[in-house]
Amino acid sequence: MINKERDIEYLSYEEALEFQTTRIRELMTGDWQKAPGFVSRIRAAGVVPEALRSPQDIRQFPILKKSELPGIQGSDPPFGGLITVSPGHLRRIYSSPGPIYDPDGHLPSYYRWERSFAACGFHEGDIVLNCFAYHLTPAGAMFEEGANNLGCAVIPAGIGNSEIQVQVAAHLKANAYVGLPSYLKVLLQKAEEMKLELPLEKAFVIAEKLPESLRAEFQDSYGIRTRQGYGTAEVGAIAYECEEGKGMHFDPSVLLEILDPQTQDPVSQGDPGEVVVTVINPINTLLRFATGDLSSAVYDACPCGRKSPRLTGILGRVDQITKVRGLFVHPGQLAEVMARFSEVNRFRAVITRERAMDDMTIELESALTLPGNTLEDIGKRLKEVLKLGIEVVQIPSGTIPEDAGPIDDRRKWD
Ligand SMILES: [Zn+2]
Repeated sequence: MINKERDIEYLSYEEALEFQTTRIRELMTGDWQKAPGFVSRIRAAGVVPEALRSPQDIRQFPILKKSELPGIQGSDPPFGGLITVSPGHLRRIYSSPGPIYDPDGHLPSYYRWERSFAACGFHEGDIVLNCFAYHLTPAGAMFEEGANNLGCAVIPAGIGNSEIQVQVAAHLKANAYVGLPSYLKVLLQKAEEMKLELPLEKAFVIAEKLPESLRAEFQDSYGIRTRQGYGTAEVGAIAYECEEGKGMHFDPSVLLEILDPQTQDPVSQGDPGEVVVTVINPINTLLRFATGDLSSAVYDACPCGRKSPRLTGILGRVDQITKVRGLFVHPGQLAEVMARFSEVNRFRAVITRERAMDDMTIELESALTLPGNTLEDIGKRLKEVLKLGIEVVQIPSGTIPEDAGPIDDRRKWD
């Protein structure tokens, strides 16, 4: 079954959308009817499963926000009627912060990480050091499932006890890593201290930003090829990098939308919006699950041969978003641009409003007196990313309070 599903990895985007739509309609009219909470949700929205004929029809169906889950589960414990089996017929039940209870059912591949790992170069016979926690939350077990399904052996290392982990990984000749990028760095440093060599050749990292400088360090200093992915505890795999390492391909087992978090309309191609996914899973009825994560996508052809679009990375959480002159501004976007200018020590975006017009100024601190053209360069880069004209000024070091956030919104809305 997994092999058959893997063939969908190379469909054109339109074919993948057709495939997903058909499967989701089958689930909605079939297995998902066994979830009373799902049935009443779509009934309350005034839609019937048969209304899903084309990929665009999905927009008629209600969105399920991650932030709503604790309330939905709390009013009808444990799963708000959103799963299709009784809790005792699950494989595992997790408790994630929120609190959110996550069901894990008896399916050959419940979380579908095989494509992500295979694209990172994992294969049968590999020994994988799995540095995600196995306690209460899904991460450890979900990545183990994917690695096992590819025929890899897994060391259930979890996080912490780095000295023992280094010893075990060295003795057992672990050649692959799954975990946080920052924790891989911790292990590599620990190994150097212990004068042991970690035989790692490849790493799949997730759940934390992977700076390109760190990826380069893993490759150049340690010979570890690093690829990243994106998913959530509720969903499992959503997107993953191929061998090119430039953006994360949409996983074909989820129908992925990028929506304006306020209007819930699709954003224009390339613009940032909230990642909303419908998962092809007969047990958990995740229909239009809004992750709260902000991303954008590129739709041009990838040299790897996969035709699916690619997420450009996770910019941050939707609830941190600010709108300036009708356009989204996210602290993550600002931080990304500012990180390219090493002479900038600190910055903040100050948003003001006069005569019904928003204005944004970037105030920055530097140890040097920055020439006008550097400030202009920064302004240009910000304009490319935010599509907003922004004034950039240098202010004396020490002006920005220590506890200030990256966005100082001073607008008054009377
Ligand atoms: Zn690719």
